[in-house]
Amino acid sequence: MTLMFATQNIHKKEEMAALLVPHAIIMPSELGIDFSFEEIGSTFIENALGKAEHLFMMTGKPSIADDSGLQVDALGGSPGIYSARYGSDVFGRMLDAPEKNRYLLSNLQGVEGAARSARFICAIALVLSPSRKYVVQETVEGRIAHKPFGDGGFGYDPVFLVGDNERTMAELTPAEKHRVSHRGIAARKILTILASIENKEILHVC
Ligand code: IMP
Repeated sequence: MTLMFATQNIHKKEEMAALLVPHAIIMPSELGIDFSFEEIGSTFIENALGKAEHLFMMTGKPSIADDSGLQVDALGGSPGIYSARYGSDVFGRMLDAPEKNRYLLSNLQGVEGAARSARFICAIALVLSPSRKYVVQETVEGRIAHKPFGDGGFGYDPVFLVGDNERTMAELTPAEKHRVSHRGIAARKILTILASIENKEILHVC
């Protein structure tokens, strides 16, 4: 199936395309569509569903969207749904990923050991028609490192120690990240949903 993916983030598109093989993933910008969506929901699920519904309304094509972020327990769950904009209220501008990581580490000074627990969360919404909508949400648990390590991935990957390991998400190969990540686990559930729909449609046609 060809799926429109509601994002302007090329890193996310590349990850999603690899995760949803054999389905074709197209960003709105690849079709010259200027897609933007104000994430005003109070949960990852609301934001993912809102984005996918909006893209479906714009294109009339099967659409997916993800909303994801990092929850840090010692910060009361921040940055959470505001992960992309983290620190912009303090600095008066959007921070790039290394800046956000430095800001996060500075907010965790004096927090040690198990108290540095955190998780990545990813909600993925799939809209096939106004009446056929599916949402999954998945999580990967970990801790915040004391400094960034690794060049892989994107965003907060260099400061996120996966599970009980001493390797950050940015030190994993793409295949390793896909196996354990919030987005990888959620995408595999979407693959199962897509497979069940395609099977049903084949049966229906027969
Ligand atoms: P949004 O889903 O576009 O609202 O952005 C979520 C933000 O969370 C991204 O800009 C990243 O900063 C962060 N994020 C989401 N998923 C990941 C991931 O897999 N690795 C690192 N950072 C992530």
